Amino acid sequence: MSSWKDYIRKVVPYTPGEQPKTDGIIKLNTNENPYPPSPLVGLKMKEMSDSGLRKYPDATSEKLIRRLADYHNVGYDQVFAGVGSDDVLGMIFMTFFNSDKKVLFPDISYSFYPVWAELLNIPYEQIPLDSDYRINEKDYNIPNGGIVIANPNAPTGILLEKDKIINIIENNQDSIVVIDEAYIDFAPEGSSCLDLIDKYENVIVVRTFSKSRSLAGLRVGYAISRPENIKYINDVKYSYNSYTLNTCSIEVGSVSIDDEAYFRNTVNKIVSTREAYTERLKELGFNVLPSSTNFVFASHKSVKAIEIFNYLKSKNIFVRYFNVPKIDNFLRITIGTDEEMEKLCNALTEIL
Ligand SMILES: *Cc1c(COP(=O)(O)O)cnc(C)c1O
Repeated sequence: MSSWKDYIRKVVPYTPGEQPKTDGIIKLNTNENPYPPSPLVGLKMKEMSDSGLRKYPDATSEKLIRRLADYHNVGYDQVFAGVGSDDVLGMIFMTFFNSDKKVLFPDISYSFYPVWAELLNIPYEQIPLDSDYRINEKDYNIPNGGIVIANPNAPTGILLEKDKIINIIENNQDSIVVIDEAYIDFAPEGSSCLDLIDKYENVIVVRTFSKSRSLAGLRVGYAISRPENIKYINDVKYSYNSYTLNTCSIEVGSVSIDDEAYFRNTVNKIVSTREAYTERLKELGFNVLPSSTNFVFASHKSVKAIEIFNYLKSKNIFVRYFNVPKIDNFLRITIGTDEEMEKLCNALTEIL
């Protein structure tokens, strides 16, 4: 008996972190920025309410892409923008991962990668992190149909040194290597792989406005690569949905790039809070992996992660717990304001 029900694409979707509907919650579970976006963003939003929502947006997002190209000192034809980096990564998977060989990414990494691979019927292999939760670049010297590395990695927070990424790229000249730099603004200067796109034609760097620019709700992400690669992604995008970014995202995203001083200031605040509270968590008996991001990944020496997670939740403090082998005794804690982190530590002392 054959029926349309036999031909449904059944997938196990990505599970986003919980977005509580109630007030009064200290929300450290989805790596949002605790500070508001640049004041320029608010001004632009007010100005926007009078203007062109009647019309379709600019399908090319030209204004935003020009700002990004100038900001990163690359050509206008080297930037692709999408509805958050999730959209950008999805388009990249669709565009470049059509080989019979497996696409490689770490077993512990952004949990959306295997979901896109499943959705698009892309063969893939998850390469285990080593016992220190680090990527071993030599593990990627095997035949493959593409490589995706989140750097710094999530949810570990650990940065892979640039020379090791260069090794991966040089040893895989027949594959596209995607570097997902969602958290790179929180890493030390010089960690980004953006400059590698001049030297290697198989590299794509992906960035987002969601974390360091405090604009997770706006949904803007982008990719930078060689013009040929950007054209291939655009061809796929225009074959699927031409109006991805809305007018508000284009306008507001553009002005957010202008406020460099504000951006640097909030990023620096988060980095110093991260360093201070990493020490506090260690004093409370946590093993904290070295983070180059706006979150820390920590496990406690005697109390189980799930117990801490549930206790914190009962105190209206949300952190992230992944019930996944190898990391099921860790908590991923987004860096909030100093005040929020202080409340977290106070709650922790009650159960540790
Ligand atoms: C948050 C995150 C993304 C997605 O961010 P968007 O909000 O879709 O831009 C992509 N990759 C990693 C590793 C992330 O942590």
